[in-house]
Amino acid sequence: MKVQNIEEEIIQTKNHLAFLEKSLKEIQKKCDHQFKRNDNFERCLKCNKAEALYY
Ligand SMILES: [Zn+2]
Repeated sequence: MKVQNIEEEIIQTKNHLAFLEKSLKEIQKKCDHQFKRNDNFERCLKCNKAEALYY
């Protein structure tokens, strides 16, 4: 694999990752969360969003 190809693939992967993260945030923003409580955090059963619990 050539360096240029690798660099090209890194850029494409980063763009793809940014797209995925944005999609996930969008889903979690719209989600009607249903949290299930764990030890020190709670996680939404629908979108998997986790939130830390503070006492
Ligand atoms: Zn949710």
